[in-house]
Amino acid sequence: MSKALLVINSGSSSVKFAAYAVESDAALTRIANGRVEGIGAAPRLLAWGQEGQTLEDRRIAGSADPANGLHEAFGYLFDWLSRQVADRTLLAVGHRVVHGGEKFTRPVLVSPEILAQLDGFTPLAPLHEPHNLSAIRAIASLNPDLPQMACFDTAFHTTQDWVAQAYALPRHITGAGVKRYGFHGLSYEHIADVLPAHLGPLADGRVVVAHLGNGASLCAMRGRRSVASTMGFTALDGLMMGTRCGSLDPGVVLYLMSALGMSVQRVEELLYQQSGLLGVSGLSGDMRAVEASQTPEARQAIDLYVYRIGQAIGSAAASLGGLDALVFTAGIGENSAMIRRCVCRDARWLGIELDNDANLAAASGARCISTADSRVAAWVIPTDEELMIARHTQATLQAPAP
Ligand code: ADP
Repeated sequence: MSKALLVINSGSSSVKFAAYAVESDAALTRIANGRVEGIGAAPRLLAWGQEGQTLEDRRIAGSADPANGLHEAFGYLFDWLSRQVADRTLLAVGHRVVHGGEKFTRPVLVSPEILAQLDGFTPLAPLHEPHNLSAIRAIASLNPDLPQMACFDTAFHTTQDWVAQAYALPRHITGAGVKRYGFHGLSYEHIADVLPAHLGPLADGRVVVAHLGNGASLCAMRGRRSVASTMGFTALDGLMMGTRCGSLDPGVVLYLMSALGMSVQRVEELLYQQSGLLGVSGLSGDMRAVEASQTPEARQAIDLYVYRIGQAIGSAAASLGGLDALVFTAGIGENSAMIRRCVCRDARWLGIELDNDANLAAASGARCISTADSRVAAWVIPTDEELMIARHTQATLQAPAP
């Protein structure tokens, strides 16, 4: 019987999935992808096939309690998948797990012991880690014998030098794991994998990748390895994001708590869920909505978003001792010609000359958007975190980590 792998990216109210066929030569072909959204409220399953055609778009039964809701959503998803891929045996499930701490530097086969260790990282990624781990638990209770792999967003950055990872804090604090980890590693790893096919020898030079999605960060790469990243101890640091503030004077947090009397929970909500594009525009954390608005606040939100990226590109170039290429990826990086134009305008001093027509061209797939004589190349390269997870899952299944 032919085989399949399932990839899960579980968030607070939605679960994204992708199913891959494992071909006889071990190549992976995506056969379906989709999401269950509205978990704990009004769950809905949306799924698309290989050619992007809609396979499913329907309300599913589910309880109002998010924990039960997740369990039910996976039950429904597995039933649906078993009908869709009835001719294939499901070999394993690969999960995106945001934080692997210092210990997990590569994907791992999950056991109850490993799961307990991963629970320990929840305070470091409160918005993501609990949902990632709940998905693993829900699937384990439905299907205890199905191998599940955890693939970490932090792992790609473990190549960074000590200075790129350290905070100037006392040794006993850094010794307790308070250091910069960096995130979006599965996305950066995918880009690093495909860079040579697009950039040729430049791929191994000094490359800054801008992952601009709901979360956003930059990664400075040399030799396709991470040298520096804008996200730090948590996924809150660095660039301004959809609802997260990005870099912030730590004194602001002290002030919010001591002078304004805000609780830890209230500050967490403010910084993770009410700041960024949403907080500054007063409108939305979704770039499309902010771009479409003409209010002064929405304009300022975009100005600040672009300004922060410009500053961070300068910092990343400093870490690399120069710049050979800038790559845009993820929802905003791949789709917003306006944000790319503004970022490239501000990075002209580094030697980027944007080709306006190439930037505006309605194209999908990887493409160069700088002029032929630009000293620094600018590219758009679509990311594919799911494929990266599927590959790791396949490799870990063949040779589980000791
Ligand atoms: P996630 O981080 O959840 O995976 P995505 O990578 O899908 O998110 O990015 C979502 C962001 O991409 C949203 O802010 C959305 O508005 C933005 N986006 C998607 N398409 C466009 C577009 N055509 N123009 C501007 N922004 C876009």
